[in-house]
Amino acid sequence: MTIETEVLVIGAGPGGYTAAFRAADLGKKVTLVERFPVLGGVCLNVGCIPSKALLHLAELIYQAGDAAAKGIDFGAPKIDLNKVRAWKERVVKTLNTGLAGLAKQRQVQVVQGVAKFVSPHEVEVEGPEGSETIRFQNAIIAAGSRPVQLPGFPDDPRIMDSTDALALEEVPGHLLVVGAGVIGLEMACVYHALGAKISVVELADQILPGTDPELIRPLLQTITKRYENIWLRSKVTGVEAGADGLTVRFEGEGVPDQARFDRLLVAVGRRPNSDRLNLAAAGIDTDERGLIPVDEQMRTQVPHIYAIGDLVPGPMLAHKASHEGKIAAEVIAGEKVAFQALTIPAVAYTDPEVAWMGRSEAELKEAGIEYDKAVFPWAASGRALAMGRREGLTKLLCDRKTRRILGAGITGPHAGELISEAVLALEMGADAEDLALTIHPHPTLSETLMFAAEILEGTITDLY
Ligand code: FAD
Repeated sequence: MTIETEVLVIGAGPGGYTAAFRAADLGKKVTLVERFPVLGGVCLNVGCIPSKALLHLAELIYQAGDAAAKGIDFGAPKIDLNKVRAWKERVVKTLNTGLAGLAKQRQVQVVQGVAKFVSPHEVEVEGPEGSETIRFQNAIIAAGSRPVQLPGFPDDPRIMDSTDALALEEVPGHLLVVGAGVIGLEMACVYHALGAKISVVELADQILPGTDPELIRPLLQTITKRYENIWLRSKVTGVEAGADGLTVRFEGEGVPDQARFDRLLVAVGRRPNSDRLNLAAAGIDTDERGLIPVDEQMRTQVPHIYAIGDLVPGPMLAHKASHEGKIAAEVIAGEKVAFQALTIPAVAYTDPEVAWMGRSEAELKEAGIEYDKAVFPWAASGRALAMGRREGLTKLLCDRKTRRILGAGITGPHAGELISEAVLALEMGADAEDLALTIHPHPTLSETLMFAAEILEGTITDLY
């Protein structure tokens, strides 16, 4: 059977479904191909959403634990893993159902199967019911990414990737997290709160490699107290699977030659799914990392084929994928739009959270841009103290001459919510005075951005 469509979207993650819905809203006939029976991609099914549902439970456990010292003792948590899994799955299913409804409402034709290009205007889709050909005028490739696997590890269910870890088969006695990036540290937080001992090993010289070290400090201090080990500048050189656990060999700084763990989570990055699409048949090349180069309208080298999300350059984040999806759909519909966002904010939903946007000090220094910096410590925030969370900080960077906001970082509870104000400031070309003169409600954590701006403007010197 052959389907004819105006816009073919491959992959129904946040990039793909956003693109499909936008194109349909703009009057296009859209076909959305997804290899899984549900919509939502990695983000909804095995990424952002299930991890945040579990992190919400981790936050409850930590808060209940902290409450004891403040006079309310809830006792030790009793964990029913079946119910924990059911809660997480309920959240995911609600959103799956919502997306299916949104697709139906817009008459987006959803086809289940794996799409591969056979020519610049055709894909073949291998689905549970057999194969079909889809002929398209325009295509948007949104096939996402998958976890990087380390070579030479035994094939053992106790060696998990992020998808396995989210399945939450059991809470191991001692979990080794290989890779201290966002995904590794978020899952470490979940498993620790549920009762596992945690060790972390990271090749780089800091956790959350590439992030401003000043922002990371409060997180590092917290997890250094909670976890058994955080080994930096170190790597795993081998794993042996035995009946009583996994024996892991290490090389690096301050790391033992070997140690035994009950489970491993390998979270060393993700690779684009571009190698599974037969892109050559469409005339599309990838770079050395497998990413598909695109212009600022998300167009590949083949002008009627677009690519978005994790398989194009830039941070692998859901909000980047959906923003790009909208652009691709609008360009196809003839609108004059382009990717012009000044920043893509990033958040580690750890405890405490770490969020950042714009340029970091290191980037400003490298670019030779003169800047001023202010750091407001949450120990001076009434709201943070009332929450028992004095460890946080809010940092702002502005251009020394124009005073425009150039970058910001926030560490502490809800940092991921708070960073959007700084993103808006950057996008609107606000200067430090704009933030300093904006009345923020008291007592809130959002005030810390105003206070940091006041420090930049020299209008507060003493912290109160
Ligand atoms: P994906 O979500 O990967 O979707 C691609 C879809 O394409 C998949 O459904 C796949 O099945 C389908 N597909 C692939 N190949 C084919 C084919 N040939 N034919 C048909 N279908 C195909 N990002 C955030 O911004 N915030 C977070 O909090 C966050 N947390 C995360 C937590 C974890 C544990 C993980 C793993 C990731 C997290 N991410 C987070 C990253 C986020 O999930 C991705 O950036 C986002 O899903 C990328 O969206 P996408 O649309 O490009 O691709």
